[in-house]
This record gives sequence, C-alpha cells and structure tokens, in this order.
Amino acid sequence: MMKTSTLALDNQLLSELGQSLVLGSLSNKDVLSETEREAPIKILPNANVLKIGGQSFIDRGRAAVFPLIEELVENLGTHEMIIGTGGGTRARHAYSVGVDLGLPTGVLSVLGTFVSMQNARIIYYLLAKHGIPFIEPVQFGQMAHYLAERGAVIFFGMPPYTFWHENPTVGRIPPHRTDTGAYLVSEVFGARSMIFIKDEEGLYTADPKKEINAKFIKRISVQELKALDLQDVVVERPVLDFMERAKNRRSIRVINGLIRGNLTRALNGEDVGTEIYAD
Ligand code: ADP
Ligand code: MG
Repeated sequence: MMKTSTLALDNQLLSELGQSLVLGSLSNKDVLSETEREAPIKILPNANVLKIGGQSFIDRGRAAVFPLIEELVENLGTHEMIIGTGGGTRARHAYSVGVDLGLPTGVLSVLGTFVSMQNARIIYYLLAKHGIPFIEPVQFGQMAHYLAERGAVIFFGMPPYTFWHENPTVGRIPPHRTDTGAYLVSEVFGARSMIFIKDEEGLYTADPKKEINAKFIKRISVQELKALDLQDVVVERPVLDFMERAKNRRSIRVINGLIRGNLTRALNGEDVGTEIYAD
C-alpha cells in the first residue's frame, strides 16, 4: 500500500484558497489576487477613532483641551471612542534637534513616538477619573473589553514602526506620523468613523493661517484633492494614499474641535467640517 505523504493529506483538507496560498508563491500576483475575494471583517464597527491634534490642539493648553475633555465625557456611553494623540510642537523640536545631530528617520520616529505618548498620557490623566485607560499597541488585544466596559481608550497616534520606519522621498522626517497611525487603526478595526480634531473648520484650498483668501472645501474625493495639488493640506498626505487602498475606512472627517458641539455632531454622523472620501 502506498503511503500518503503528510503534505498530500493536508492538502485534501485545504480549501482552494488554502491550496493556492500554501503551495503557491506569495510573490505571485495571481495567488495574491485570490485573497481579494472576501472583504475583511469589521472588528469594532461601533467604535469611532478620534485623533486629537498635537500642535493644532493639545499645545493650545486648557482653553482648547478642557472643553474638549468635557465633550468627550458627555459622549461616553453614547459613542465608543478610540482616542489617539498627535505630537505637536515638542515632536517638531525633537525632530529638529535629531536632524541637526544626524539621527536617521527610524530614530526620529522613536522620538516622535514618545512625544505622542506624552500627549496620550496627558489626555489619560485628564480622563482618568472616568476610568478611561491609556493603552499601548501591545494592549490592543484588550481594546474591545475596555470599550465595552468604559466606552473609550486612549492611545498614542504614532504608528509603532520605530526603527523600521521607511525613509521619506524627501528629507528625513518620518512620513507616517500620528494622523496616519490613527487612520490605520480605524481601517484595520473597521471602525465606524475617523474624525480628526484640529483647529480649523476642515480642509481649505490653502493653509487658512497663512492665506486669508483660502476657500473652505466641504467634501472632496482623494482623487480630486490630489489633482488640486495643494501646497499644503490639513492631514498627513500618506493618509490619502492609504485611503485609496482601504478596505474599510474609506472616508475621514476633519473638524474644528475648538467649536463646542462639533465633536458631538461629528459623532452623531452629522455633516460637520470637511469630509474626504475615496471613491
Ligand atoms: P495636528 O496638530 O493634528 O498634527 P497639524 O498642525 O499638523 O495638525 O495640521 C493642521 C493644520 O494644518 C491646521 O491648523 C492648518 O493651519 C494647517 N493647514 C495646512 N494646509 C491646510 C489646508 N489646505 N487646509 C486646512 N488647514 C491647513
Ligand atoms: Mg500634523
């Protein structure tokens, strides 16, 4: 009697997709395209990812932060919130010292990570009495539990690539920072929304702080936005690239968190600020 090899036996148990992946090459385009058949699941479809700006928001201190904290608390129990933080002025200062001293992108990314962690810890202490935990990426496995129990978690926005951060096309500043990190969390967990809380109404045709004639853009596709080829935009540009390839989170909203009620309106699904979508 012929002995069936273990591999052959296993193969009988494998699905068609399984066979193609186990036996095929992961560099083969046909093999890879087979994994496109099913859309990924939405792991936390009720959760809203919020990113609180570093320079645009937290650095403004109590005048900006305290009213937002109140609004976050008001929404506890109504909306699940995964709250990420930016780095801001301290991160930019760290980058400037790091660049001056010859540090590479991967190390600058380490510095940026710790500044956005400082801000996450600040927000954590302000929300601590409401039982909202600060979690690092290694604790994301407990995120569902915390959301179910407390309704919110706080994380640092920087994607934790650290030394593995890719070099930018131009210069040395890590290209994927806290907007990108927060956005990627909303995409991978299939969150209900991605809301960027900053200090302007949303996207304009130019930085409204520098160009008084800048026009407000209420809603725009990534494609249209890229075609405008603006000198400066309100979110990190890699977010736009990632949106084009997104499986779940194909729209984002940028709001002015300095206006009381805007966050609540955005959480309620109202059309506040700018919506950028991938079509
Ligand atoms: P964060 O603090 O979240 O990192 P940033 O300061 O990096 O936010 O980005 C938000 C800022 O981007 C706004 O405060 C605004 O001054 C500036 N900005 C630049 N270009 C634009 C634009 N086209 N539309 C709106 N804001 C812009
Ligand atoms: Mg920024």
